Amino acid sequence: MDEGATTTRGGIRLLGVHKTYGSGEAAVHALRDIDIDIPAGELVAVLGASGSGKTTLLNIIGGIESADSGSIVVAGQDISDRPPATLGEFRRAHIGFVFQFFNLIPSLTARENIEVLVELTGRGDRARAQELLSAVGLADRANHFPAQLSGGQQQRVSIARALATDPDLVLADEPTGALDVATGRDVLKLLQQTTRAGRGVIMVTHNEVVAEIADRVVRMRDGRIVATERNTAPTDAAAVRW
Ligand code: ADP
Ligand code: MG
Repeated sequence: MDEGATTTRGGIRLLGVHKTYGSGEAAVHALRDIDIDIPAGELVAVLGASGSGKTTLLNIIGGIESADSGSIVVAGQDISDRPPATLGEFRRAHIGFVFQFFNLIPSLTARENIEVLVELTGRGDRARAQELLSAVGLADRANHFPAQLSGGQQQRVSIARALATDPDLVLADEPTGALDVATGRDVLKLLQQTTRAGRGVIMVTHNEVVAEIADRVVRMRDGRIVATERNTAPTDAAAVRW
């Protein structure tokens, strides 16, 4: 495979990535010698126990944190040695983030939370905000503030927000964690559609059943990738049950 093809749009290539928090006796090796090569347009599930490094991996791919060493190429951009100040620009241009704890702006309504990102990034379409809120079952909550929404509803707003800018790569940290089966399935359908539209999706999950919809499953333990499996027949998200 030629080099460009693996790293354009939503493609990812990490080589020898390490990340340590703290130092000396208190050092936590959150990521150890991570190698990943994922072409664009795949739905990847990252599975692993709590503390295995899943969120750290996502944050480094998305330019939210920097690695201590290693090479990181995401969506055609080599971000390995970018100064943190320029990573915001990279994120706005290429990444849609679904945070584990939503990170909605409390003073804005659900729809405004989406619209403000569309404006900030200059990508996507404000009109899609309402469409995406409907797709996640929140058409009648567009004018509610985060504090007036349940955890699961806030999570769905966060997913709609990540998709509204039509990013090359969606990074989703436990996107179904706070959802019941029916709404979780709607979210998984959206993520699967995103990859079918040629975008990349990396989804962290605890749930083996959720991971069955993925094209590739990456298993982490103690900061390492211990297995990578290709799924030749992913389950259709509409049929998933847990
Ligand atoms: P996961 O998402 O799989 O639960 P994380 O990536 O959040 O795992 O964490 C991996 C390891 O790094 C854990 O041991 C965690 O306690 C540690 N860690 C994560 N973030 C920080 C931080 N900001 N400061 C110190 N340790 C951290
Ligand atoms: Mg986590």
